[in-house]
Amino acid sequence: MTAPAILWFRRDLRLSDQAALSAAASAGPVIPIYILDDETPKHRKMGAASRWWLRHSLESLDASLRAKRSRLILRRGNSATILADIARKLGAKEIHALHHYEPWWRNAETALREKLGDDRELVLHDGNYLAPPGSVTTGSGDPYKIYTPFWKALRERMPPPEPQRTPQQIDAPDQWPASDGLDDWDLLPNNPDWAGGFDVWTPGEEGARAAVDDFVDHATRYDERRNLPSVEGTSRLSPHLHFGEVSPAYVWHRVSGVGREVTTYQKELAWRDYAQNAILQFPKYGSESYRDQFADFPWRDFRSSAVRDEFDAWCRGRTGYPIVDAGMRELWATGWVHNRVRMIAASFLVKHLLIDWREGERWFWDTLVDADYASNATNWQWVAGTGVDSNMFVRIMAPLSQSEKFDAGDYIRQWVPELADLDDPYVHDPGQHGCLPATYPAKIIGHREARQRALDAYAGIKGS
Ligand SMILES: Cc1cc2nc3c(=O)[nH]c(=O)nc-3n(C[C@H](O)[C@H](O)[C@H](O)COP(=O)(O)OP(=O)(O)OC[C@H]3O[C@@H](n4cnc5c(N)ncnc54)[C@H](O)[C@@H]3O)c2cc1C
Repeated sequence: MTAPAILWFRRDLRLSDQAALSAAASAGPVIPIYILDDETPKHRKMGAASRWWLRHSLESLDASLRAKRSRLILRRGNSATILADIARKLGAKEIHALHHYEPWWRNAETALREKLGDDRELVLHDGNYLAPPGSVTTGSGDPYKIYTPFWKALRERMPPPEPQRTPQQIDAPDQWPASDGLDDWDLLPNNPDWAGGFDVWTPGEEGARAAVDDFVDHATRYDERRNLPSVEGTSRLSPHLHFGEVSPAYVWHRVSGVGREVTTYQKELAWRDYAQNAILQFPKYGSESYRDQFADFPWRDFRSSAVRDEFDAWCRGRTGYPIVDAGMRELWATGWVHNRVRMIAASFLVKHLLIDWREGERWFWDTLVDADYASNATNWQWVAGTGVDSNMFVRIMAPLSQSEKFDAGDYIRQWVPELADLDDPYVHDPGQHGCLPATYPAKIIGHREARQRALDAYAGIKGS
């Protein structure tokens, strides 16, 4: 009887180009496990939109495994404890997994190794990034802090290795451990079911591959269209990549295969790698401003009900700034927002409303289907000007000009029905043009006033 190996799935819910699966399957029988672990990440447990995605992605993964006469074992609780327990009971000598870099996963890996002792092993593989985070370094071996030199060094190492094929066969163990039922986990919303608009997504490996196919057809127009929220110019792969339903190496090779200039897209994919490198160096990046000077920043007091009301208006898309409101409503309806609009909405919260970036980060964490510790923190800190590589705080985006510049009229008309009858240019700023519908709020604060307040707040902190 060959001892089984455990395959520990986390954010790598795929069978192809899955180095942990390939290694486990080549050694003998495999026990694939997913653990819903709300203990290990503590306050960083998965948000509600991510749970919706996870539910469907796990269903799809189980179906793919069953097509290969295997199955997905589901357990809930502390990952290290559960894995060590199953390994001991079923005699598994090895647990295979892909590297994960969130601080809680690294802690869990250490805890698991301790529990496994000397006669069992956790074997970690690469494959969720273009290059293993931490491996792209300067000539003196230091990690990069700034994106542009990071990208230049990463590009030297591209293309990534060719994707590995799905193993032909995944042998079943003699005995399966007990499994929870997916429905028992209550991952889907009810009362109310706010996920009606999430049907634009097809979670799972097949859905991810189909999304890559769709994008490849217009990848050469990415550069020209990626900043226009009114057209579908980006790949919409972020939740698929976050949950590891497709590997970035596969995406890189498919997109590069179109044979024309796709560097801009490759550079965006590299931001995902850069963000992981940032949290590897600064594990608290999601909760602490990198720049010390922001420790004293006079964010408005979040305990005040007036500030809470403004935050609420931002979350619900009722700020009176159509582009911001369209973005926040798209987020609520579909769990995703166009990158340009994410930047505008985030900047509005931090600079126009002077609300601590961490409040916005938390809202995105709960509502994005692609909520990713590294990418979310890196981008919020970039927008806020608090990060290691970031936009300067004093560069304050003007939402209304951004809206016109990036031709967001159709986008606003789609997501803010109160403004659906307004043509360009009125739709970008109806109040300014004297056509504010009674059902749509006036601006929560004027742009000039907000800008000045933000600049004054910044001028008051040390080192500004
Ligand atoms: C405030 C803010 C918060 C964000 N939070 C997240 C988050 O939690 N998760 C997340 O995946 N992205 C986040 N982003 C980055 C970016 O907005 C999304 O990755 C992008 O909109 C996803 O759409 P797409 O797949 O069509 O991207 P495309 O433009 O098609 O890009 C391809 C892929 O590259 C990666 N990518 C592109 N831009 C970035 C970027 N700036 N940072 C990191 N990776 C990038 C994504 O994996 C994306 O799927 C955030 C951006 C901002 C401004």
